[in-house]
Amino acid sequence: MRYFLIVLLLVAAPLAAQDLAKLTAELNEKYSALEAGDVEGRRDLAKWCAARKMRISERRLHLEIIKLAPDDQPARKALGHVFDGEKWHESEDAMHLAAGKQRGLQQWASPTEGLTQLHEHWLTAEELKQLETGEPLRAHKGKGWLEVLTREYRVWSELKESETLELARMLEQAIRGWRDDITKPYEAGKAWTLEVRILKTHNDYVAMVKDDIETFHPDLAKSHGFFDGRACWGSYFDSPYRTRRIFLHEARHQFDMCIAGTFMHQPAWYREGTAEFWSVHEWDGKTLRMGVLNSENNEHLHFLQKITRRKKLKGAEATLKGGWEGDVDPEFYQQSWAFIYYLRNSAHTEAWRRWEAELLAGKLPDEGKRTEAFKKQVTEDLKAFDKAYTETTTKWAATYGE
Ligand SMILES: [Zn+2]
Repeated sequence: MRYFLIVLLLVAAPLAAQDLAKLTAELNEKYSALEAGDVEGRRDLAKWCAARKMRISERRLHLEIIKLAPDDQPARKALGHVFDGEKWHESEDAMHLAAGKQRGLQQWASPTEGLTQLHEHWLTAEELKQLETGEPLRAHKGKGWLEVLTREYRVWSELKESETLELARMLEQAIRGWRDDITKPYEAGKAWTLEVRILKTHNDYVAMVKDDIETFHPDLAKSHGFFDGRACWGSYFDSPYRTRRIFLHEARHQFDMCIAGTFMHQPAWYREGTAEFWSVHEWDGKTLRMGVLNSENNEHLHFLQKITRRKKLKGAEATLKGGWEGDVDPEFYQQSWAFIYYLRNSAHTEAWRRWEAELLAGKLPDEGKRTEAFKKQVTEDLKAFDKAYTETTTKWAATYGE
């Protein structure tokens, strides 16, 4: 199952689900008319799919062709398979592995004693030691892309090496901060590979989404990044600050799902507010500070100013009522950010963390329980809470642009 978590969705696009259903029905009809061994019929149908950006179906048809005709070169090439002079392999990696090679940090090599495997790379003690210090390593590279490893991340990137290393260094600091925050230390033997994929430009990102209507919901073209249940995706966007913010946001969802295991207990306002909370940051190239009130760069503070001036700040009761689905509009993210930021920076912080622990342990599965527990742990008097919340956030909002 893939989860698409959208950060900063600007406009809700009309759903194209119906279009896809119609195309799929049309495809199924054409497919069932094919003879069992008809290679050319499958090729024509694959072309039909390609013209409609139905990439999963196109691929499936090419896979059927090579089952029928294993040496079919056009189908092999369309699948990205490589020929070693004798045999076809699913990828260059598969070809090296079939030849008995090991993936070293920067190249494929013959197996060597004394190496340790991490993120599918065989690393030396020296290399592992560097990752332990928080300093990333440049791994393999190809035309227009390179990979960077940290202790917990495997980053594939189309950005420059220095930019990728910097983002990786920052993400590694972020995850160490998140682990500290929930007291969940890193355990070498149980390491996950957290994947991050960075495209060169936002146009490339939008093109990727639009090029595959079976994988990506069309609304994603309006987002700046997403987490698909496994990897974080994004691109350079607007400025280094916003680029870092997008990856911090998505990486926080990834952390909640893959490391903390709490993602499924999080209602949308908590999930997005928390990811936004950690994404507002300061970074000087060396040290990351997350969850800060940044009056120069914090777009939420700017929006908070607008919200408080309109007297539209959502209070505790209205926020706690929110369910598993979030509104896909920027204000939802800003309101959720403000609520989490306030609770983490007020007299309620400790009580809030107790409420949060109950939520993340799965003890608050519905809005009624969440509100009840909030009254018990944080405050009985939601009206007084909202008054103080509004006053404080209004004061913070006023600092924007000072
Ligand atoms: Zn999100």
